[in-house]
Amino acid sequence: MIVPEDVAERLATARQRIASTGVDPAAVTILAVTKGHPIEAIDAAAAVGLSEVGENYAQELVAKHAERPDLDLRWHMIGHVQTNKVRSLAPIEAMWQSVERPSLVKELAKRAPGAAVLVQVNVSGEASKSGVAPDAAGELVERAQAAGLDVRGLMTIAEAAPVEVVGPQFARLRGLVDRLGLAECSMGMSGDLEVAVAEGATIVRLGTALFGPRPGAAGLRH
Ligand SMILES: *Cc1c(COP(=O)(O)O)cnc(C)c1O
Repeated sequence: MIVPEDVAERLATARQRIASTGVDPAAVTILAVTKGHPIEAIDAAAAVGLSEVGENYAQELVAKHAERPDLDLRWHMIGHVQTNKVRSLAPIEAMWQSVERPSLVKELAKRAPGAAVLVQVNVSGEASKSGVAPDAAGELVERAQAAGLDVRGLMTIAEAAPVEVVGPQFARLRGLVDRLGLAECSMGMSGDLEVAVAEGATIVRLGTALFGPRPGAAGLRH
């Protein structure tokens, strides 16, 4: 069961982990990843003052938003977006963090003109990860900007690997963000948040660190 008291305690721990890198926790946005958790996770996020929530699946996001339409939350899509889901998400989304292909840019420009987006970059090169190759990030950013989207920055999911491997991957994303003149750098999850923050993350996406392990069923949906 998810209760605000536990989430508040875990949030304090997450902020301490950020501070341990020498970075001011107030300078890093914590996105509460509620995927796979029941609606109580949304309630708890709101109760502890987290204003940004993230979901991976369009249907789950739309359903949760429909249950809590009046909470003062900003909803982020952080998983693969099928083009035919854009229309139902458009009225809800504060930020689309997983834009990785021209067809999605085109659909967003049509259904959510001017939307705030991050371009997802595959910094590890693993075939299982989505995102454009680092060398192609600039091109997709330009395309999205030309389509009128508000490109705030880049997002990545690093490899599950030791710091020596993950650190340079995060550094690569940060370098791209700077080179492209963007602001936001969404990187780091529960397992690797210190490395990401040390390399310049502006948004960390935390699920397990805030809400505990996801109930088993959610894992099967990947
Ligand atoms: C699930 C997920 C997270 C959160 O993962 P945790 O390890 O539970 O913190 C962050 N980002 C993305 C894209 C995810 O799919």
